[in-house]
Amino acid sequence: MRGGRGGRAGEPAFPSAALLDWFDAHRRPLPWRTDLDPYRRWVAEVLLQQTRVGQAEPYFVRFLTRFPTVQALAAASRPEVLRAWQGAGYYARARHLHDGARQIVRARHGLFPRSRAQWATVPGVGPYIAAALASLLADEPVVALDANVVRVAARWFRERGDVRRSAVRARLESRLARLLPPDRPGAFNEAVMELGETICRPVAPSCPQCPVRGACRAARELADPGALPRRPRRAAKPHVRAAVVVLERAGRWWMQRRPDVGFLGGLWEFPGGKIEAGERPAAAARRELREETGMRAGPLRYEGVVRHAYSHFSVDLHVFRGAALGGRAPSSPGRWIRPSTRLPVPIARGTEKIVRRLLTEGRASPDSGSRPGRRLGARPAAAGSRPVRSRGRGGTA
Ligand code: SF4
Repeated sequence: MRGGRGGRAGEPAFPSAALLDWFDAHRRPLPWRTDLDPYRRWVAEVLLQQTRVGQAEPYFVRFLTRFPTVQALAAASRPEVLRAWQGAGYYARARHLHDGARQIVRARHGLFPRSRAQWATVPGVGPYIAAALASLLADEPVVALDANVVRVAARWFRERGDVRRSAVRARLESRLARLLPPDRPGAFNEAVMELGETICRPVAPSCPQCPVRGACRAARELADPGALPRRPRRAAKPHVRAAVVVLERAGRWWMQRRPDVGFLGGLWEFPGGKIEAGERPAAAARRELREETGMRAGPLRYEGVVRHAYSHFSVDLHVFRGAALGGRAPSSPGRWIRPSTRLPVPIARGTEKIVRRLLTEGRASPDSGSRPGRRLGARPAAAGSRPVRSRGRGGTA
């Protein structure tokens, strides 16, 4: 389709063709864009849901190298999948991909969905991914509305409403739908996303480089087009303090597996949890160890604080280390693991930071555990600075 589309009365027609020409000439050569393979595109869309393009590339390549086909992914075990996803974060995405692969292989005999409605039945595929894949792989004329697209559209149409509201998003979607070229709806969706990621960025959009600036109301009418969409003030993330125990026996660490469902589901971590109000980190470490494993430890050494930020809270992990003295709760889902920077079980970023600190920052020797750290009894430097509101695991993985 050439020429402009969908302009309202009194407005210039929107130059969809100019946008597509720009996309064809300037789109980044990303590893999932080498072809229109549905498996690769599906994995990429899931990964890109919460990860920036630049960060996603190495994880995509690693995951596809490990599981090159949907059949390979479906045949893998859950720990293998989580291990391949390690570091990418938001592990529910990996669990959903795994479940989705099994559904496609077993229930659909390896045939991928085509329409938006069919994609929406795959675990973890929400409205955005379903529309993106259906438009790209089957030319279904539907709008894929992600945060980039919402931002760009809000500027094109000078949308003053709160783009978190569903009525406002529906309005933007309906206006974008009128611009979709019938022969290349998927490329149009991708082009808008690309524009949002490379030119129409959240702050200080590069309007002089924009292929559609002549049709953009924000650029034509506002001194600062980047002021749209309006940004509501974000609430501060809660902060949590947690104690973690690296329990040692015969040169190995005790690690345990989190439940499959929920935050960091299926990942492995050291025993630990939130520090109670008024509780000292060392006391919390011993209490958590006893409650979670039934094991006792000899003198604990303080290894310092590891800071980590999750999407919805941040945490100070007070790390302790000591020798196991015995005892074990029969239901404790863990095992002794030889220390390594490449552990044989999937772990999340917070635990990775602890492992790195213990193994590579000279804090401890993986096998002997012989470096004399600070004996407990002395108060850790960072302890006691914040109240704790509730009991339960603090995302110590
Ligand atoms: S002209 Fe500027 S504000 Fe408008 S879409 Fe292009 S980059 Fe964004």
